[in-house]
Amino acid sequence: MDAIVLGGGLMGAASAYFLARRGVRVTLVERNRVGSGATVASFGNIRRSGRYIPQLALARRSLALWGEASKMLGRDVEFRATGHLRLIFSQAGLDEMRSFAEAARPWDLDLEELGPKEIRSRFPGLGPKAIAASFSPKDGSGNPRLIAPAFADAARRLGAKIVEEADVRAITRVVSGFKIETSKGDYAAEALLNTAGAWGARIAAQFGENVPIVAKGPQMGVTEPLPHRILPVVGVWAHDHGGGYLRQVERGNVVFGGGAERTDVSLDTGYATADPARLPGQLRALLPLLPMLANVAVIRTWSGCEGYVEDGLPVMGPSATTPGLFHAFGFCGHGFQLGPGVGEVMAEIMSMGRTDVFLDDFKINRF
Ligand SMILES: Cc1cc2nc3c(=O)[nH]c(=O)nc-3n(C[C@H](O)[C@H](O)[C@H](O)COP(=O)(O)OP(=O)(O)OC[C@H]3O[C@@H](n4cnc5c(N)ncnc54)[C@H](O)[C@@H]3O)c2cc1C
Repeated sequence: MDAIVLGGGLMGAASAYFLARRGVRVTLVERNRVGSGATVASFGNIRRSGRYIPQLALARRSLALWGEASKMLGRDVEFRATGHLRLIFSQAGLDEMRSFAEAARPWDLDLEELGPKEIRSRFPGLGPKAIAASFSPKDGSGNPRLIAPAFADAARRLGAKIVEEADVRAITRVVSGFKIETSKGDYAAEALLNTAGAWGARIAAQFGENVPIVAKGPQMGVTEPLPHRILPVVGVWAHDHGGGYLRQVERGNVVFGGGAERTDVSLDTGYATADPARLPGQLRALLPLLPMLANVAVIRTWSGCEGYVEDGLPVMGPSATTPGLFHAFGFCGHGFQLGPGVGEVMAEIMSMGRTDVFLDDFKINRF
């Protein structure tokens, strides 16, 4: 079997790798550089807490792959299972956390509930006014710059062809499958996987499949290096204090997001910018999580173009109109954790026609 993967973000690169591992002849076509879309902009959160419950099977599969990724790909992708702490500032937050913890248990997600004293003793400096927190010890973070190129390079070593900076001019259905005309030549294959991220709906529309999606840019920032003290990734329940989140990287800088509206992004340029006017409000929203942020310098802000589907869930699985066409796009700001799992599951569906991971809620014809 042969396949073209269209779009070289984390989803495309991981799919190319797992397809190649199954012996499929793969060509990955990316119009920029591999991993330079939403993937590189990611905060790097590898979090299961707070996810849509029917997505936890996929998230569990993906977390296991994150754990193996450095060995599997022959390169450190900086996955660190530092744990994920979610602070609670309101009764609504406590209720939300407890009902999620109950529902998530069958998916091997055991959340520890911490009281204020435990938060202070185990995580000094975090959430002084928090009334409780959840702690998920197996979650953590990975490096958004490293993961997609690592998958693409590993796919290449297995025989996949990785074509970058290839402007796609036309996609045509032909008797034997699909033909893609690009600025770097034409490619043909039996199967086509649409992993075009925020642009995925444009590809799907060419095959009569309409997905309500908007392109948005979450705003991110990073501080100067601070004395190292925060191990886990930190977030909040119930969107308290604007739903901010942060983590400290090994050299001390605190990376943060949330606490600000996402900006609109034009799909024609795909250029997502952080809005400096939103930064003070964003930092204020983060102070209850980490008061130390009051007196630090922010050295960089950024954003990225991500596709948000109307119901907040991605599109994954076979096309409903066109045999041989598959989709995995629109990950609504939470695809970084899922990426390796998406790649493995899409390779199973494309090469065997099935997977044991529940994907029914992500079908393209649900709209
Ligand atoms: C600022 C930000 C922070 C985030 N933080 C987190 C987080 O902490 N945790 C988490 O789980 N998720 C996070 N996400 C979401 C996560 O990064 C994305 O869901 C994930 O990276 C999506 O990967 P992708 O491969 O679908 O898309 P992308 O990485 O955008 O890749 C799609 C690729 O398709 C290419 N493409 C599009 N059209 C064509 C075409 N016609 N021809 C060729 N190539 C094409 C694009 O150039 C692009 O490289 C964040 C997203 C953003 C923007």
